[in-house]
Amino acid sequence: MDLEKLWQSVLAQIQLDISPANFATWFANTKILSFENDVISVSTPNSFSKEWLEQKYGKDILKILQSLDENIKNVSFVVDPKKTKSPLGKKGFKNSKEETSTEQLGFKELEINKETNLNPRYIFDNFIVGPFNELAFAAAMAVVEEPGKNYNPLFVYGGVGLGKTHLVQAIGNKIKEDSPEKKVKYLPAEKLISIIVNSIKKNSVEELKKTLRELDVLIVDDIQFIAGKDKTQEEFFHTFNSLYQKNKQIILSSDRHPNAIPAITERLKSRFKGGMIADISSPDFETRVAILKQKGEEKGVDLPKEIIEFIANNIQRNIRELESALNRLIIFKKANNKNPTLEDTKKLLKTIIVSPSKITNPKKIIQAVTEFYDIPNGTMFFTSRKKEFSKPRQVAMFLLKKELKLSYSEIGRKFGGKDHTTVIHACQLIEKTAEEDEKIHQEIELILQRVYSS
Ligand code: ADP
Ligand code: MG
Repeated sequence: MDLEKLWQSVLAQIQLDISPANFATWFANTKILSFENDVISVSTPNSFSKEWLEQKYGKDILKILQSLDENIKNVSFVVDPKKTKSPLGKKGFKNSKEETSTEQLGFKELEINKETNLNPRYIFDNFIVGPFNELAFAAAMAVVEEPGKNYNPLFVYGGVGLGKTHLVQAIGNKIKEDSPEKKVKYLPAEKLISIIVNSIKKNSVEELKKTLRELDVLIVDDIQFIAGKDKTQEEFFHTFNSLYQKNKQIILSSDRHPNAIPAITERLKSRFKGGMIADISSPDFETRVAILKQKGEEKGVDLPKEIIEFIANNIQRNIRELESALNRLIIFKKANNKNPTLEDTKKLLKTIIVSPSKITNPKKIIQAVTEFYDIPNGTMFFTSRKKEFSKPRQVAMFLLKKELKLSYSEIGRKFGGKDHTTVIHACQLIEKTAEEDEKIHQEIELILQRVYSS
């Protein structure tokens, strides 16, 4: 049997039943690898399309295959990036190794260390230094050299997405690497607040005090959140003093200068200001280019100069946005198996660059979600609890909120007068799952690509 012809016939039939966009997304670069023991094995370019083919189209594919050859009993899908050809040919992609590393996408978070609570991803090796963060970096280095001696506390502040968390965790990771015996603990302020509150409830404050005071390095991220939390401030003040007196290193980050944090006690404020205060500002153009190049390399994409410069010119605010721009391009490359052109890039990044509400509307969003999940028009509005409809509905609600900033009640009205609490619940649910589940995250990105490219 000619496997290639067989697959062509399957594709020809599938194509009749699904939208061109879905066809291109899920069936590009698939082929039959083998037919052994009554099983057809289909290769897919990445795990993402593998899962979709299995779950969404598996049954239909098998049916079509069986109608073409009754000896076929089953179909299986395998990820085989090497077997799929790149439309750019050899020039565009260096080799299959590159494909594999794109496959990994850098999405897999490394595991957080249970003892220190540090994320091993945040290290100095991948921290880029430029005029915008030089001072904070130099201070960090001084702390690493002699923890507890040079700057205590080190207080790093700056706007969102500028690298505070990365920097303070890199300090922790480096100290731990240099001196594994040292006790290092990283705590986001919310976590600090909750462990203090819980220990008060459980009458275990003394125990907590003891653990915190035995540390060599205590890192508290986003300390501004303790504003107005009196109990936490009280406990933290004593812990701070105790560590400080023993020359143990304290590292704090905040989105603003200590003077600008409201509702913290004067005595804490003056402790915060007693060491080194270093700010991080926005990265300049050269640094933005350097960051994009490095992150691209890390994730196995080699973007041409014009694309890098386009992004660096248009996304200036922070590093997190640069990263999300890059991720969009990577997801595009994964789904389409080709590098985006400058035109593609412009479309893909439209939402980050200009206000989304100017270029899309509720109809487009609902259309894109309907098509993506391949459900009949209008079914999203059924008050059905079936997951098949409820998930697209929740995703659509989430996107209407996120992209168009519609009010919850407005969204509720669009969905047949649903209560605004239902909408809030849907939005929160999707937001949370998208954070935790890479698959949902990618689905949402792919839907957005459709919304903004139509
Ligand atoms: P913040 O805590 O200030 O909001 P993060 O530390 O979370 O910012 O940084 C946002 C993203 O940008 C992270 O993925 C981080 O790894 C990356 N990043 C920040 N600063 C740098 C830098 N100087 N070099 C490389 N990546 C950076
Ligand atoms: Mg942070």
